[in-house]
Amino acid sequence: MMHPKQLLQLYDIAPKKSLGQNFLFDLPVLSRIVDAAQLSADESVLEIGPGLGSLTHVLASRAAEVVAVELDDRLIPILQGELGTYDNVTIRHGDILKQDPAALFDRDYKVVANVPYYITGAILKHLLSAPQKPLMMVLTVQKEVAERVVAEPPNMSLLGVSVQYYGTPTIVDTIKAGAFWPRPDVDSAVLRIDLTGGQRATDEQRFFKVAKAGFSQKRKQLKNNLGVMGFSKDEISAGLAQAEIEGSRRAQTLTIEEWERLTNAFFP
Ligand code: SAH
Repeated sequence: MMHPKQLLQLYDIAPKKSLGQNFLFDLPVLSRIVDAAQLSADESVLEIGPGLGSLTHVLASRAAEVVAVELDDRLIPILQGELGTYDNVTIRHGDILKQDPAALFDRDYKVVANVPYYITGAILKHLLSAPQKPLMMVLTVQKEVAERVVAEPPNMSLLGVSVQYYGTPTIVDTIKAGAFWPRPDVDSAVLRIDLTGGQRATDEQRFFKVAKAGFSQKRKQLKNNLGVMGFSKDEISAGLAQAEIEGSRRAQTLTIEEWERLTNAFFP
């Protein structure tokens, strides 16, 4: 595998920081990322931001089909050149946030990506709330973000609640900044999100209305924060009582099940 610096020099282009371009070139690291996806040879994979195609190579050799969506038009000819020998790879030019991921496949799919860090949250939201969700996502993200995603009470964040509403996240690996070129300013982690647990019973929009209200002001108690939903003080007390949750608690201490109870109490 050619070093990304050399490959880019060959094509006379420079990495774009604004697109989160930090390329992975360490083969054992790439292999470990793909291991985490537990791919079998008949599966389909969506890769977000293939960059110079280093992860794509490994994916192509282990999956039935890889669709890779890359936003930077300068990289498309490089990807076509680098990956032209695979007949199971499709390179698509576009913004992942503007595509319906399921429309790219006619069957179940997994997502594997070293994502552009500046849109990690948006990518998570886009894929997790898609009507046809992936079976699993394996994402290389900023370590601090991965830690927030897997947090548990009493240290939950809205990001953690949002991901854990849909699936079960685990940190499966950490990656040193030196494995990337250019080197990012932060350490990275490989986050796996298993989505095979099935759908929750609560309505998605209502659940997030309640959870967002609960987290609306950082250190405040639930009974104060829930007011932003527009209910009266009495209605809030009644809802909390029905869900059997103390109004003096703070949002970071609630489990997903407790948010679901609150959702059912406020929106029966
Ligand atoms: N997967 C490659 C590159 C990672 S860098 C590797 O591991 O080496 C992140 C990549 O995402 C870059 O190639 C960047 O151009 C691309 N990207 C940034 N925003 C994107 C978007 N909205 N949709 C698709 N790709 C995007």
